[in-house]
Amino acid sequence: MLQFDVHMRAIVAYATGGFGGAEGVHLQVDLQSGLMRSARHVLSPNCDARPAGVEAELIVVHGISLPPGEFGGPWIERFFTNSLPLDMHPYFAEIGDLKVSSHLLVARDGALTQFVSFADRAWHAGQSCYNGRAACNDFSIGVELEGADTIPYEAAQYDTLAALVAALCDAYPRLSPARVVGHSDISPGRKTDPGPAFDWERAHRCIAAARGAPSHS
Ligand SMILES: [Zn+2]
Repeated sequence: MLQFDVHMRAIVAYATGGFGGAEGVHLQVDLQSGLMRSARHVLSPNCDARPAGVEAELIVVHGISLPPGEFGGPWIERFFTNSLPLDMHPYFAEIGDLKVSSHLLVARDGALTQFVSFADRAWHAGQSCYNGRAACNDFSIGVELEGADTIPYEAAQYDTLAALVAALCDAYPRLSPARVVGHSDISPGRKTDPGPAFDWERAHRCIAAARGAPSHS
């Protein structure tokens, strides 16, 4: 699998908290590369440049599972890298020609994979609108949670989401916890993810805790 070249000497924005345990996950954005340190990095070709002068100012939370309702396989990663085996499942044949990606994927165990630099435009939201502004991919960061609309998300996923939101808010000044929305919010009538199973109150409690924890920097 292709890997990003991680530039370890770049300026770093600090998130808060320790690794694992009650304090949650510690994450940092490398601003030079637009990569989340300590995430796994897998290159997706399904991205391009953001419009000139545009940077991330919205985080879009998605839910995805492949095949639908099944967790733990390699298929989301294969989908985002255009290598889904189309004969493996009827649903794969349906979606196999789509060219999509997200910046980040949070697996059921909280493990984090990054497919696209935050500096670039991932193809996650499709037709969408936020506060009257269309084409949310231009100015957003897409975060896929491995999940389904009606199956509760895992505690580890809330922890990782909170840590990554905290790190992104520190790295990109136009982001804030108030600028975290669901795909269903920006593509109403067309998309339902992350679904009613996603607990927004819990997510915001976790984000506040991650943002408020003492800095280790
Ligand atoms: Zn979505």
